[in-house]
Amino acid sequence: MAFFKNFNSCWKRPVWCRACVAAALMTVGTLHAQTPQTDDDIAFIDKIYAQALGDGRCYPWLTHLTKQVGHRLSGSRGAENAVIWTKAMLDTLGLDSVWLQPVLVPHWERGAPEKVRVLKSKQYGTFALSVLALGGSVATSKKGVRGEVVEVKSWEQLKQLGKAGLEGKIVFYNRPMDATRVHAFDAYRGAVDQRVQGASRAAQYGAVGVLVRSMGLRIDDYPHTGTMHYDTAWPKIPAVAISTQDAEQLSALMRAEGRATVSMAVHCRTLPDVLSYNVIGEIRGSEKPRDVVLTGGHLDSWDVGEGAHDDGAGCVQSMDVLRHLKRLGYRPRHTIRCVLFMNEENGLRGGRQYAAEARRKGEFHLCAIETDAGGFTPRGFSFDGDEAVFGRFYEKIVKLQPVLERYNLKISKGGSGADISPLKEDKGLLSGFQPDSQRYFDYHHTVADVLEAVNQRELELGAASLTAMIYLLDKYGL
Ligand SMILES: [Zn+2]
Repeated sequence: MAFFKNFNSCWKRPVWCRACVAAALMTVGTLHAQTPQTDDDIAFIDKIYAQALGDGRCYPWLTHLTKQVGHRLSGSRGAENAVIWTKAMLDTLGLDSVWLQPVLVPHWERGAPEKVRVLKSKQYGTFALSVLALGGSVATSKKGVRGEVVEVKSWEQLKQLGKAGLEGKIVFYNRPMDATRVHAFDAYRGAVDQRVQGASRAAQYGAVGVLVRSMGLRIDDYPHTGTMHYDTAWPKIPAVAISTQDAEQLSALMRAEGRATVSMAVHCRTLPDVLSYNVIGEIRGSEKPRDVVLTGGHLDSWDVGEGAHDDGAGCVQSMDVLRHLKRLGYRPRHTIRCVLFMNEENGLRGGRQYAAEARRKGEFHLCAIETDAGGFTPRGFSFDGDEAVFGRFYEKIVKLQPVLERYNLKISKGGSGADISPLKEDKGLLSGFQPDSQRYFDYHHTVADVLEAVNQRELELGAASLTAMIYLLDKYGL
């Protein structure tokens, strides 16, 4: 234990200490099999980074995916084209297998642009708000709905207002993401319940529609769509996201004028399920082919913007992991697999289908890594797993920290990813690739999530980080 303390602190120095390595090899020969501390590892990971930064394919691939394919909500033509094109790209990499895994996905369409207008304000007259219907929302009737707005900042307040205060009204959820949280995803998790549950909770008291403040920390004019769920116990009412700027303005107007009335016209519809696919490619393991190390993102996106950060970035990075390993001539012990999941955004059908198939085939996922937090500067990996095995696995994983620190990557405990979450019960390790999170919610689920918002170097560094992690996991196992 003491040895590892010294070893770790040695690694924090800028220069690699060979004396420390020699001591490690002599004193803990048995641990060496599970501890990355060879010059070979460093040399190989350096090559991965050099290749990714000099000849990465993430950015050209993302250019095609965003500009030629475009957005790709489950069930849409864009999603279908994305499946065809990414499979064709994987087919060029000389992998051992590339295949499509069928999965039935929901098919929701936004229809004509939604409109929400503030009616007859004393100061501003009648004017439109920047809004996007939430994914899964029902339409209004042809006439639309109109009602007085009731601003709500907590579930407690909603309950207190009750039927007397909410019947026939339009609930305006305006609890911002908490800007004091260091990690943007923590702020998101603290506010997104309004988007997911808001409609049914308001319908319970007779509300006829909801406006939800967009899930973003920046004050701007981009509404953020995203998934929502209806509780079948209550009537389905239309739900739209309003930009943070307009949320602020509407709130100020209500303070100044005492009240506001809005009209809503929403044209969404839900069609029958559609046959779609997870796209999968792999390099088969030479020693344990049924043990899989997975890297994956989700191929579907929302129906606005180009799905560049969410999650085109994760898809092209996962594809490039296989390409990097192939080009460097690496022969993995375990099967290394790239999975582009379909339908993460509004159903998770791809993730569920994948886990069910893996179980049927008797595969074990040594580690599954999801990259679905944007194409920003890599910061590290968080790890999660079934509590029966997690402590034991994590002890081994933290031994990778000294090598990863050299590349500015940190290992931590935490969440992993939605698509891989159904694998948790199989008792392997799950991981979430963690790029810097501060700008992610400037783009998430908006028209601004386009290629131009992605930095090429940061994106390629992500693929390098993933490739390095996967190499270490494959080489040292658990
Ligand atoms: Zn995503």
